[in-house]
Amino acid sequence: MNSFLGLVTNLKIKTKLVLMVIFILLLVCGVTTYYIQVDQIDSMGNELQKRGYTISNYLADSSINPILTEDVIRLQQLIESTKNTQNDIVYVFILDENGEVIVHTFENGFPVALKNVNPANGEESDKLLDIENEYVRDIAHPILGGRIGEAHVGLSETSIRATVSRSIRNKIIITASLVFIGILLSFATGTIICKPLLELKNSAEDFGKGNLDSRVRVRRHDEIGELAESFNNMAEEVKILVQEKEINRQNILETKDYLDAIISASHDGIFVLDSEGKFEFINDAVRDISGYDESDLIGENFKSFIPNDYKVFMNSRWQEAQKGMEKAYETKIMAKDGSLKDLIVDHRSIEVHGERKYAAVIKDITEIKKIDEMKSNIISNISHELRTPITIMRGFIEVAMDEIDTSKRVKYLNKSLKALDRQNQMIEDLLEVSIAEKEKFIFNYETVDLEDVIDTTVKNVIPKAERYDIEIRTDLEKNLNAKADRTYLVYALTKLIDNAVKFNKKGGNVAITARHTDGFIKVCVEDTGIGISKGNMRKVFDKFYQVDATTTRKYGGSGLGLSIAKHLIEEQGGEIWVESELGKGSIFCFTVPKAH
Ligand code: ADP
Repeated sequence: MNSFLGLVTNLKIKTKLVLMVIFILLLVCGVTTYYIQVDQIDSMGNELQKRGYTISNYLADSSINPILTEDVIRLQQLIESTKNTQNDIVYVFILDENGEVIVHTFENGFPVALKNVNPANGEESDKLLDIENEYVRDIAHPILGGRIGEAHVGLSETSIRATVSRSIRNKIIITASLVFIGILLSFATGTIICKPLLELKNSAEDFGKGNLDSRVRVRRHDEIGELAESFNNMAEEVKILVQEKEINRQNILETKDYLDAIISASHDGIFVLDSEGKFEFINDAVRDISGYDESDLIGENFKSFIPNDYKVFMNSRWQEAQKGMEKAYETKIMAKDGSLKDLIVDHRSIEVHGERKYAAVIKDITEIKKIDEMKSNIISNISHELRTPITIMRGFIEVAMDEIDTSKRVKYLNKSLKALDRQNQMIEDLLEVSIAEKEKFIFNYETVDLEDVIDTTVKNVIPKAERYDIEIRTDLEKNLNAKADRTYLVYALTKLIDNAVKFNKKGGNVAITARHTDGFIKVCVEDTGIGISKGNMRKVFDKFYQVDATTTRKYGGSGLGLSIAKHLIEEQGGEIWVESELGKGSIFCFTVPKAH
């Protein structure tokens, strides 16, 4: 049943319409035909019955005399004449009071089948018989109340039935014609209804495929027309919604791009951890700070990147973060190259789609920390450097005071004077830095012979070089006249040669060259010392910068010399730079404009 319903439901509308019309026509025609047939048979049957009663009644009355007089010939004549009066009288016969046939009209003898088939039993009776393919209505009438016999008349119903079947045939023809017309009409109606529906379906499909301008032409104002109009309105609404959605999507994408650009342009690292502490998002700065790629970090727990010494500390911070405590703190992480990075971490707990996450901003303060450390080292270094000459001076002065030998006393006092000069130099350095800070250097330009400047400077440094067993060589071109401030030039060159000795290896060399270049004189100081790493080469010219804070004490110094030298050279129109290889040595060069 269900599958039948499913079959019917899935049929096309046109087919359904045709089937429905056929069904209705067949039903109407079938029911009317049936009732008409029954009614026709009934009324014709009644008429036949009435006629039969009249004939049998007449026969019964007319046969009394011949029966009583036993005049069989008259009786035979009576039934023959009665049979001949009407075409549909099939037979006539008369029985005696014992049911024996007295006379009959059958040519081939009285059929046994008719015996006692419809006894009158004192009153009229009728019965429909099927004799030899003919429907016969047998009507019996008692003669003298049945005391002397009964008269039977057989009337044919065949003609009635023929009339009825003719009328049925006609009705079938009419029904078939109606069904045919009905099919044609319903097919035409179906086409009229379905065509716009098909158009609607095609438009809906087209619309569904993304053609938002797909519309149906509204040609009529019936329900289908209204449906088409509703579809068009709906399509218009959907188009507006889709366009709005697209605009919103574009806005969201633009905003996202904008935020992405801000986030990736940030020098501070920004990252998001999930509720378990695994990286979900990192910006470019996190990559730059840590050296790790996105693929190294995403999905990894942040704890894997914390150095052992900081693990306990970071566990406590993580627990605080989970309790919703938000505060910035300093920590260290292990970068991909194995170095430790100092960070300031500031995180916030956020809720995304009902899940707790942690957004954090990190600031790389490794350099600041290093500079801070260096500054504090330098302060203690400078204090130490300032105190050392005082101790030396005090020692020599005390010894000199007790010394009677004048030449020895002078020697001690000279040494004390040198210590004083050293201290004076240091104070000069510091003063020059503070002057440089305020841009108050005053340059007295003159033509300076660089050969003379180099000689003077080398002489100043030779005692120190000898102490470290370092040889200083010079290779100078002729006529090295520069336009410069002699004092500042001596200062800058002294710093370079002093460093070349200070950061050299025992038994090493320092080579000083001076060459003419285009409009300039180029002076280089090359050493065979400890060298400078690539990353530090630019920084050595920064104020207070010393490559390794822990070795500064070993070498002494304030980290100011090169920054002052740079300032002085550049102010005079030259340039200063360094080329170096770690462990092999460095070449510091500068240029000064030639004198015209
Ligand atoms: P300092 O007083 O520390 O020498 P400088 O400004 O002269 O200060 O130098 C800064 C730093 O540059 C030094 O501390 C040292 O680390 C590095 N440096 C300078 N000259 C050389 C050199 N010739 N070889 C190696 N390192 C050097």
